[in-house]
Amino acid sequence: MYHCTICSITTCPEKHGNEKQLCSDCSKFPCRRIKDLNKRYVSKYGESPIENLNQMNAIGLIDFINVQNEKWKCSKCNELLCVHNDVCLNCGNVNEYFPKDSNDLIDK
Ligand SMILES: [Zn+2]
Repeated sequence: MYHCTICSITTCPEKHGNEKQLCSDCSKFPCRRIKDLNKRYVSKYGESPIENLNQMNAIGLIDFINVQNEKWKCSKCNELLCVHNDVCLNCGNVNEYFPKDSNDLIDK
């Protein structure tokens, strides 16, 4: 959570104080900020924020959230998995989406 509050995406001046504005609605999308973040997320967590934003635009925010809520359900306890963790924060079951070789790369 700490990372989220200091994240350069959340505090991006292009949002003009509107935290809810999506990067993909910005005229500078995809800017260097999001490209850098994307690179980190793809290598560390196996997830692409840019692809997710494109999918949001393609299928709509509500459908996107529904799809993701299904995808990220822990197969053991049904709680949502965290993209930043290799195990379910609720029951400790393995997060199958977490890249196997990036355990030592997580910044704590
Ligand atoms: Zn679980």
